[in-house]
Amino acid sequence: MQPLLLATENGLYCPQGDFYIDPIKPVKRAVITHAHSDHARAGHAFYLCQTDTAPLLKLRLGDQIHTETLDYGVKTYIQGVELNFFPAGHVIGSAQIRLAYRGQTWVVSGDYKVVDDGITPAFEPVRCHVFITESTFGLPIYRWAVQSVLQSRIQQWIWQTLAQQQLPILVGYSLGKAQRLLYLLKDETLNFWLHPSIYHIHQTLLQHRPELQPYFPFVQPLNPDVKRAELQQSLILIPPAALETKALDRLQPYATGYCSGWMQVHGQARQRKTDAAFPLSDHADWPGLISAVEATGAEKVWVTHGFTHSLARYLREEKKLDADVWGLPAFEDETEE
Ligand SMILES: [Zn+2]
Ligand SMILES: [Zn+2]
Repeated sequence: MQPLLLATENGLYCPQGDFYIDPIKPVKRAVITHAHSDHARAGHAFYLCQTDTAPLLKLRLGDQIHTETLDYGVKTYIQGVELNFFPAGHVIGSAQIRLAYRGQTWVVSGDYKVVDDGITPAFEPVRCHVFITESTFGLPIYRWAVQSVLQSRIQQWIWQTLAQQQLPILVGYSLGKAQRLLYLLKDETLNFWLHPSIYHIHQTLLQHRPELQPYFPFVQPLNPDVKRAELQQSLILIPPAALETKALDRLQPYATGYCSGWMQVHGQARQRKTDAAFPLSDHADWPGLISAVEATGAEKVWVTHGFTHSLARYLREEKKLDADVWGLPAFEDETEE
């Protein structure tokens, strides 16, 4: 029987259903795991995504795109291929995609994390025959501290920075990290100011999911007309792209704290020119990847997107699994415009 998914130059393709998953070139029908820009690109004729992802796609790609949505756990059929979404725990709206056809079940993980961060629907292991896993942090050096430890390190740093008469600026992706940081810090008596790109995502999420409001503090947009003198007892959130821009000059004196799994490796903080580094990640760490793979019970594991060779080799040699690197065109690191 023909495999349910093939690696093509456009990305993962399901021939039986004639659709692509997170295609990298414009196609007719795209099924999207989540709204990060390296997974959800412009130019597809139809987008099928999890319900919470649709408004984020429209915010990024424009209102004119054609989206169809599906809630977690609800089945749909595309040319006889059964398809449903399961929570991937990566960012709000992120989904693993389960495909079933003539007794064969495949799951594409998309990006995922196995830690329940309290605000993103938690990762759910799905039994399948074939599992396609990401491996962004697929090296044994990546092991995350528990969230509460990172949370108190970040809290301490904020108050220390303020005590030194500096403005604390946390750096993290607009979708995922920013919502998580707001949730973790919501009880701090701070004025929260969001870089416009984070503010727009925040507003979009709340518009579509007003019940999320209690998970977040009150926030304001850090527009260019906000004066430095107004930023008393304040915390600023910016995306990585804003870190090295001149726009930050007017916020002096300030200190930056970069929140990313990459901060686990010494040297990354220096390279990214940040004062403090917090390895808070929206991806699974090494033990998380391995436990997620094992929980699927899959007889075949394809590894993509990251440190593919090291994870595939470990699964073969130590776990005796039939695991290989999937020859897909590479995804970029989480990029944001
Ligand atoms: Zn992602
Ligand atoms: Zn990704």
